[in-house]
Amino acid sequence: MIVCKFGGTSVADAAAIRRTAEIVRGRVAQQPVVVVSALAGTTNALLAVAEQAASGHLVAAIATVEALREKHMAVVAELLGDDAAAREIAGDESVLFDVLAHLAEALSVLGHVTERSLDAISSIGEQLSAPIITAAFIRAGVDAVLVDSRQVMITNASFGRAEPLPDSIAAACRDHLAPLVRAGKVPVLGGYLGATVQGVTTTLGRGGSDYSASLLGAALEADAIEIWTDVDGMLTADPRVVDDARLIEHIRFDEAAELASFGAKVLHPNTIAPAVRRGIPVFVFNSLNPAGKGTRITFDAPRLPVRAIAGKANVVIVKVRSARMLATPGALRAIFEVFERNRTSVDVVATSEVSVSLTVDDDQHLDAVVGQLREFGDVGVERGRAIVAVVGAGLGESSPAMARALTAIGDVRLHMVSLSATGINLTLIVDGDELKPVIRRLHAEFFPAAAP
Ligand code: ADP
Ligand code: ASP
Ligand code: MG
Repeated sequence: MIVCKFGGTSVADAAAIRRTAEIVRGRVAQQPVVVVSALAGTTNALLAVAEQAASGHLVAAIATVEALREKHMAVVAELLGDDAAAREIAGDESVLFDVLAHLAEALSVLGHVTERSLDAISSIGEQLSAPIITAAFIRAGVDAVLVDSRQVMITNASFGRAEPLPDSIAAACRDHLAPLVRAGKVPVLGGYLGATVQGVTTTLGRGGSDYSASLLGAALEADAIEIWTDVDGMLTADPRVVDDARLIEHIRFDEAAELASFGAKVLHPNTIAPAVRRGIPVFVFNSLNPAGKGTRITFDAPRLPVRAIAGKANVVIVKVRSARMLATPGALRAIFEVFERNRTSVDVVATSEVSVSLTVDDDQHLDAVVGQLREFGDVGVERGRAIVAVVGAGLGESSPAMARALTAIGDVRLHMVSLSATGINLTLIVDGDELKPVIRRLHAEFFPAAAP
């Protein structure tokens, strides 16, 4: 059995959904379980609906709802025509749009939005896409069955970034998915959304459909997890930043996880962990080029000093200075506990005798963090920084690679530098506007263009 996940661009419109159906049809012998995203752009539009409604712009919010309705209905008509089955799906979609419009009205009355209501709204994209795609698969001759993710993807109640409950998910997969697969059916589920044990809708965070796929893959002990997207695989850099980014044909789990955590959006940062626990290979393929080699992610791949460059913007540095406190045992632990209590994860840390610098990229709870850190000494916050990560399993063994990286970036101001303990990730903190130039320089250094 395999799990195949198709991202937003792979199900963007009728033509993309048809291509996806062909890919799945070619894999029926491998017993696929299919995870799908919302139609491209839908989740952003749904979040805009919530924002518009809660800020008093109900007319704009309803206009956004209607534009989404038209787009989905056009895809239903193009893919499914106008027979009884198509009309039933159109009816179900229409009910979801009515629910969405009611939610928008409720938010506009309340004048504010909670994480829980945001999940109710942003999960509608996958609730809309999965039935259409299932029906299209059936038209293409695939024996597909729609499964409501909320029966299977059981999570805690941390709305907005819910944590999966692996035992409950495994039990639900045994009850609801495995029997379908055994019967030769192809289950189709929306990614990204789940539900608490009580049945309240949650989401796994933006880009979370990749994570849905790997969680299901682990629960079902799949032979492979395939992530189908709009690029040929994991590349040596984001192709939107570096024109000549190359395909990585084989990469280690730990390298892929570092790249995902440090900005390679092609994989949600949590995707790798469930696969590692079960030793399931992860593949990244291009649904626009299904014959391509793609990327294979496993435990073993040749060790290269540098495998790829990643980066992300909107990083905040938090600096704590205290000659007295930081010399005492347990001070660092106490500082980390502040971040933990406030559900804020730290990416990079640098310490000296009198100060600690940490970076975070989620500043939702930053005011609380800063307030509580003041107990340890002076606290400074620097916004608008960026992290660039140079990733490669052979980096720690190759001091020339580090020296080359630092030389390549020239006189760019470095705010922090850190080499991970495992030696596979050199992170550099730079000014936000240096993010792309630094990625390009590092890429040119480690992946020079072939001579013409
Ligand atoms: P999907 O909708 O299929 O989940 P995403 O937009 O989330 O697709 O992820 C794919 C995008 O990730 C690519 O279009 C590319 O711009 C970006 N990306 C960033 N870094 C990398 C990388 N190292 N390799 C491949 N793609 C990358
Ligand atoms: N549709 C969700 C998002 O855009 C989840 C995903 O596509 O992975 O964030
Ligand atoms: Mg994605």
